[in-house]
Amino acid sequence: MTKTFYVTTPIYYVNDVPHIGHAYTTVAADVIARYKRLRGFDVHFLTGTDEHGMKVEKSAAEAMISPIELANSVVERYKKLWPLLNISNTDFIRTTEGRHKTAVDRIWSDVKKKGDIYLGHYEDWYCTPCETFLTELQLVDGKCPECLREVEKLTEESYFFKLSEFGDSLIEYIEKNPGFIEPASREREITNFIKTGLRDLSVSRTTFSWGIPVPDDPKHVIYVWFDALTNYLASVGYPNDDLKFKKYWPADLHIIGKDILRFHTVYWPAFLESAELPKPKKVFAHGWWTVDGAKMSKSTGNVVDPVAIAEEYGTDQFRFFLFREVPFGADGDFSIEALKSRINSELANDLGNLLSRSVSMIIKYRDGVVPDYVEASIGELENELLNSFSALSSSIDKLFAHLNYYDVLNEIWLRVREMNAYVGNCEPWKETDDDKLSTVLHLLAAGLKVLSVYINPFMPTASEKLRVQLGLSPSLEGKDFDDEISFLGTVNGLKVTKGDPLFPKVD
Ligand SMILES: [Zn+2]
Repeated sequence: MTKTFYVTTPIYYVNDVPHIGHAYTTVAADVIARYKRLRGFDVHFLTGTDEHGMKVEKSAAEAMISPIELANSVVERYKKLWPLLNISNTDFIRTTEGRHKTAVDRIWSDVKKKGDIYLGHYEDWYCTPCETFLTELQLVDGKCPECLREVEKLTEESYFFKLSEFGDSLIEYIEKNPGFIEPASREREITNFIKTGLRDLSVSRTTFSWGIPVPDDPKHVIYVWFDALTNYLASVGYPNDDLKFKKYWPADLHIIGKDILRFHTVYWPAFLESAELPKPKKVFAHGWWTVDGAKMSKSTGNVVDPVAIAEEYGTDQFRFFLFREVPFGADGDFSIEALKSRINSELANDLGNLLSRSVSMIIKYRDGVVPDYVEASIGELENELLNSFSALSSSIDKLFAHLNYYDVLNEIWLRVREMNAYVGNCEPWKETDDDKLSTVLHLLAAGLKVLSVYINPFMPTASEKLRVQLGLSPSLEGKDFDDEISFLGTVNGLKVTKGDPLFPKVD
């Protein structure tokens, strides 16, 4: 039976427009989805939009349109962005879809039946002109952060989820499943949070209506996280397509920003436990991007538009930069200078030149046909290169298991540099031994073929272009992974062609 892999991004809130943060999470999910496909997995890759809530209702009212009209227009921006960034998602879910509502109704009813939802009162600060509930933390000098007017304490009838009763079993799950929360620093953060004691969670509102009504009590709408998180179940057929659900659930990986870690590692597993559903296998929280050292914000106007970057510098280049510049999981800084420098040095110089000089030499010395190697000419330098490449597969697989994209790229670029050093040391243009020259050219083509596989999850288009120049079929779809990464003797007779530079230099 085919192995499955289910990866998700969060669903993005339609009151936002797409920025680098959304692109980061989604490209990260795409990288692992592509890698798993190369390794023969049947991948379900979900992204989508979170469309309910008071903010959407208010923004729509201000624009004098209905909430669904607002949602429809913003969803289009996401749907246009993802193909531009070469995102290979297999599903896109909107929380306004019927399948999502069916799933939310069902999990709510199951949790209610279990006795984990009760009716109580929710008390918080309220700004009447803004019609907004505010937490103590949101207040600015005790006033509304939006209009700076006085706020009042208000009590609202609300359903609550008995989160307080799940602390011990959550700790037990975390302890029994190392790697459930990554990076490790995030696991400590959540464990500490749970140990300080969990409070019951308000899961419904009566102050707005744009949401999914509580079954049997429609003056309440189900509040944000209980609604939103359920999308992960709805996408894989819950509750009506049992076959599909059993195939993909539990999710292998939820990739999220660190700001929504609690919802995914405390609330979500508690909801699932109450509904007697398996918990996800891993939640990975990544860090934030600053821009030129400053926090991104609409007011300073330094919000990075992923569309503009991808159009100007290339989608692959942008994708590469996101994971090459900063370890995935940590915070990082985005600057155009840093992007250009990565493009020129590591993409154009290191990898692009390696391809172009290798192809040129195969054309010049062997009429464009990759020669076979000669066993007797495999010397010390060749063995070093072969040993280095043979260690690559297992080390990369281990790194991918922890989404350590940074070290995956380090491993790949180490080999790119070793190959460049190999060319420099061999000086094929001075080689007078024909067997030796054939062996060097063979090794260069074989190494590039292997590199085309490993760069593919990050830079799918460049991988295909590289393969075309080597005379290989561009797509890796349906190819056997082990064949594609095997080295000696697999490239004989390939007809190479000189193409455009893989990564044009930028200034
Ligand atoms: Zn206000």
